Amino acid sequence: MTEDRINRVIEKYEEEINNNKLTGVKCQSCGHVMVPPRPVCRQCRSPDVEIVPIDGRGKLLTWTIIHVGPPSYENQVPYTVGIVELENGERLTGIVDIPATELTYDLPVVADFDAEREGAARLRWKKAVSGQ
Ligand SMILES: [Zn+2]
Repeated sequence: MTEDRINRVIEKYEEEINNNKLTGVKCQSCGHVMVPPRPVCRQCRSPDVEIVPIDGRGKLLTWTIIHVGPPSYENQVPYTVGIVELENGERLTGIVDIPATELTYDLPVVADFDAEREGAARLRWKKAVSGQ
């Protein structure tokens, strides 16, 4: 695994997020899909991975409400950070833009993007409406 390969998958992930698209990689030897993308397969260690589009639907596994945030998020507190399980079983952490009173375990969510931010920080989770 070279540093070039790692940078390539990370750059692609950030670039696609800037286009409001979620991407991952699919291992060409065992078919395992990883989100966010990794340069090496977590299951079979193969470096032969291809970037693939990922469906941004999933369910909320757990969450926490942040009252003291890092400086760049200071004006957003309190905000919710959750772990979302995608339909392919991969898990992503991100800010959940859903009122705290509406949060429930296994709540269907869909990826959304914050136009004010760049790269991975754009990712947000909002409530999925049926048919979406
Ligand atoms: Zn594999």
